[in-house]
Amino acid sequence: MPGRRRNLLSLAVLVTLLAGAAFALFGACGGGDGGSHDVVVRLATPSGPTATPTLLPGETVAALEPPELVLSTYEVYQAGAVLVSVTGDIRGGQVTFLGRKFPLTPGSQSQYTFVPVDTEDPPGEHVLKVDVTLPTGTKGTLQETITVLATEWTTDYLEFTPEQVTELLDPAVVAEEAATLKSVYTKVTPEKLWDGFWQLPVAGALTARYGEQRSINGSEPAGHHGGTDFGALEGTPVTATNSGRVVLARPMKVRGNMVVIDHGGGLYSGYGHLSAIEVAEGDVVEAGQQIGLVGNTGLSTGAHLHWEMASNGVLLDAVRFTDGTNGF
Ligand SMILES: [Zn+2]
Repeated sequence: MPGRRRNLLSLAVLVTLLAGAAFALFGACGGGDGGSHDVVVRLATPSGPTATPTLLPGETVAALEPPELVLSTYEVYQAGAVLVSVTGDIRGGQVTFLGRKFPLTPGSQSQYTFVPVDTEDPPGEHVLKVDVTLPTGTKGTLQETITVLATEWTTDYLEFTPEQVTELLDPAVVAEEAATLKSVYTKVTPEKLWDGFWQLPVAGALTARYGEQRSINGSEPAGHHGGTDFGALEGTPVTATNSGRVVLARPMKVRGNMVVIDHGGGLYSGYGHLSAIEVAEGDVVEAGQQIGLVGNTGLSTGAHLHWEMASNGVLLDAVRFTDGTNGF
């Protein structure tokens, strides 16, 4: 018995070191950062009738680790997002920022959410608060100050035919499609379906940025473009920006043939104007998997991909998921 006890203890020490190394390697990726004791507990108690270690007086298998707040960035642009993670032992929690509330979702080694900043949110310093519940039922609050930076919006001048304007810009049509997408984008799947880095979904030139204000047939610039457009030849492959589950794959009036992927935790990516949809609702897709082809369906003046991302119902600048400005 003393021999096996020593082995178990050294295994625990080894695993602690390995978990520490893993934290150092993956801490910057977000959602997967965190403490080491979970791993120690799992591996130090192997299955089998004789394998359970006997605790000495005063000894514990693993002490509760206090929660710690980890942010991907302290400075975030309008239409950017902050990856908020809480490591340590918590039962659950909720983030409050700019008057909106976001539930934490269990990740691989932390609980997390992508906190969105809307296009019209005021620049300046704002407090981000996280209310957590510990395993004992005790409640606590963690907080940090985040600076919202102003994004300068550009203007896009578009020309549409009278038929397109009357049929497709009909406010009722636009409102109906917005309501359909809102009902998708505001659901929070309490499960981490993404992993690692975010990829650009198409090989093409950026032709319209997120947030661009639009002048249609010479009208006063208004609104904000809800996605990022990439010009590409019809038939160019479109791939998933990250892993997830397809929750919408069907024709829409404005966005044309549209695919939406749920990445878990209230985060979604959408791909519009496709000439072909190559996945079905319910499919599980990997990062980089082909989901359709570039097209010119819906309200579109040429073959291009309209790529959008939304967190907890707020449309975000998808490019900021790939250029490092969100800190992940
Ligand atoms: Zn677009």
